[in-house]
Amino acid sequence: MVPELSVVIPMYNEQEVLPLLVERLRPLLDGMGVRYEVVAVDDGSSDLTAALLQRYHREWPALRVVRLRANAGHQAAISAGLVSALGDYVVTLDADLQDPPEVIPQMLAAAKDDGVDVVYGVRNDRSTDTWFKRASAQAFYRLITVMSQTKAHADAGDFRLMSRATVDAINSLPEHNRVLRFIVPALGFPSDTVEYKRDERAAGTSKYPLIKMIRLSLDSLTGFSTAPLRMATFAGLGGAVIAVLLFLYTLIARSQGHTVAGWTSTVAIVSAFGAVQLVCVGILGEYIGRMYAHMQGRPTYFIAYDSLTAGHGDHGPT
Ligand code: UDP
Ligand code: MG
Repeated sequence: MVPELSVVIPMYNEQEVLPLLVERLRPLLDGMGVRYEVVAVDDGSSDLTAALLQRYHREWPALRVVRLRANAGHQAAISAGLVSALGDYVVTLDADLQDPPEVIPQMLAAAKDDGVDVVYGVRNDRSTDTWFKRASAQAFYRLITVMSQTKAHADAGDFRLMSRATVDAINSLPEHNRVLRFIVPALGFPSDTVEYKRDERAAGTSKYPLIKMIRLSLDSLTGFSTAPLRMATFAGLGGAVIAVLLFLYTLIARSQGHTVAGWTSTVAIVSAFGAVQLVCVGILGEYIGRMYAHMQGRPTYFIAYDSLTAGHGDHGPT
């Protein structure tokens, strides 16, 4: 029978937090009085996550396990979970208990009472995030809302509830390197928000080093806006104007006979233009890289094991 609620949880090396998560999530979901399933997506963990999940799956059949063959990243792991989830409503939740599971019943109630398709979890207090994380997130959200037309909520992460229609729409997207927190609002389904306080990670350490954060930011920007390409054009046009002015200046200087000196300005101009060119080539490269990945059409993840079918060898959308 189709569950009413699916809870998709991506996890990468979460052996420390997993027992705490199960201990807190199970009584909560059991108490909700709905038919549910938990889809634990093991994102190619190399610690005891896989073994622990097998054990919990035996004790708690509503907990299903989908294991990816290699670490595909947070967003890909969620995508794999969304494909596997069967519920009428699907909640995505971090494994580290930063998103309090107690908010799930509120989300479900909001979706049903107001008849909306999406309920975003919005953090009303980010004091547990580091100063750097808050500042960089704020600057980034401002940048992306200016550059693209997306209306993503600045304090919404990946803790949200989605209807079957929304999940089907996401699953049908062929896009690679998708960033769901921007894709879901762009789909335009009616939505609501539920506020929550973001807690401290309950155990273990963050699986989001700076490099993964930067990658996520670049994927969000290139996935939602071509403004950087236009900025490259404008930088080139601006450079051309400056070049014309400088050329006129050198002609005048020459006609008046002061043609020596000028080493400093030459070096400054050459390096400034060199830098602008490299940045523009880099921007082009980001888009070409996305196109390349898309054209190759390789799946973004491979499923090594699925407890539902106990099958092997399935793969994600191409
Ligand atoms: N995660 C994942 N694959 C990765 C990185 C992270 O599935 O490559 C999961 C992780 O296990 C957690 C969630 O994504 O459930 C959010 O990661 P984390 O809490 O480490 O990020 P932070 O809260 O520090 O931004
Ligand atoms: Mg976390």
